[in-house]
Amino acid sequence: MKGTDIEISTFENAMKQFDDAAKLLHIDRGLLEVIKRPRRSIILELPVTMDDGSHRLFVGYRVQHSIIRGPGKGGIRFHPDTTLDEVQALAAWMTFKCAVVGIPFGGAKGGIRCDPSKMSKAELERLTRRYTAELIDVIGPDRDIPAPDVNTDEQVMAWVMDTYSMHHRRTETAVVTGKPVIMGGSLGRREATGRGVQYCVRGMAKHLGLPMKGLEVVVQGFGNVGSVAARLLAKDGCRIVAVGDVHGALYKREGIDIEALLKHTAKQKTIVGFKGAAKLDLEKLLTTKCDVLIPAALENVITGKIAPNIKAKFVAEGANGPTTPEADKILAKRHIYVIPDILCNAGGVTVSYFEWVQDRIGYFWEETEVNRRLELIMDRSFHEVLAVAEEYKTTMRVAAFMLAIRRVADVINLRGLYA
Ligand code: NAD
Repeated sequence: MKGTDIEISTFENAMKQFDDAAKLLHIDRGLLEVIKRPRRSIILELPVTMDDGSHRLFVGYRVQHSIIRGPGKGGIRFHPDTTLDEVQALAAWMTFKCAVVGIPFGGAKGGIRCDPSKMSKAELERLTRRYTAELIDVIGPDRDIPAPDVNTDEQVMAWVMDTYSMHHRRTETAVVTGKPVIMGGSLGRREATGRGVQYCVRGMAKHLGLPMKGLEVVVQGFGNVGSVAARLLAKDGCRIVAVGDVHGALYKREGIDIEALLKHTAKQKTIVGFKGAAKLDLEKLLTTKCDVLIPAALENVITGKIAPNIKAKFVAEGANGPTTPEADKILAKRHIYVIPDILCNAGGVTVSYFEWVQDRIGYFWEETEVNRRLELIMDRSFHEVLAVAEEYKTTMRVAAFMLAIRRVADVINLRGLYA
């Protein structure tokens, strides 16, 4: 999936970020290639019987980018535009995200080209079960652990878990994360990505000497990540001056009442029509004046065209890959800090790790315990990345990749390459 007005391969974008960091590391070029390329890319043709009795083939992907630091980890997205290129990029980002926050997983991702808005629940269930069955020897608690992503949710995870369990003749909760809490999910998982964004914004505001109270925030995307980040930051005293979703945008200088907006979206499924703020041209959302810009919708939305007009002091990437390499350079030149996605939105995978741990020990933590541990990991990772950025006088994105690549390389060196 892509933002507007650009044609860039998402995998190329990810690899450009990798190369920018790799240049500063003294690692053998061959080894860098080993770390960079996906270990395994699977393409599946998935036959499904539709409700009207007809048959359709869907294309599905599962990419295991790296399994060197632990089992693969990464979501499954259902989207009509999903491509292998995109899934490979997302899988690579998962490898480096898990390494940045130091959790014992590699990187993976999955996707099915389909339009879930045009399918019934029963058709989606059959598609999910067929996809899972095709991957039965590929996924598993010690191999590769899927999770929700765009257009997949707790229900889809429940189907994956059930299909896997039926094939293995035992209930295996740890095969997926992001499950319903009553069947082995973790408290706090739904909010974890937005909460991680909140911790990063707090860290950066402190670093720049900006008080949280009154901090002006713009959020693009009011789904899982964007709405939770907005709600928690508003609780911290920030003013959420503008928000946007796929249908439109809103502006209020004094700060939008996020609790009221959440009540509105729960009913209307969009922010459009909310009476407590003025309408804003969606095109102007990203360039609205603010202290913090949080892209929490799609890839490649902050382009070389938009970056010169961004008026934020820093960008906190809730979405995966929202900034193109060209825009990254412009923002760096303009001294606009970017908290990179592989750090900023790592709260989700961190609590997924907690879910996997809880499933495996069969003992579940209170939500306060989940949040406390999440804060420890996000805070530590934020400061580790910042320290590398300051040491090498580079951006936080380059620093995060440097840290991650080094961690993957160290494990390969210790394990050796099996021949
Ligand atoms: P979601 O489907 O819950 O929400 C997406 C939001 O973006 C919706 O409000 C939608 O209306 C909006 N949107 C879509 N196109 C838009 C456009 N052109 N302009 C403005 N808004 C637009 O998805 P999510 O789970 O919140 O994920 C958002 C991003 O965060 C994705 O890039 C995803 O990969 C990434 N992410 C999600 C998680 C997670 O735990 N959910 C974790 C890490 C990264």
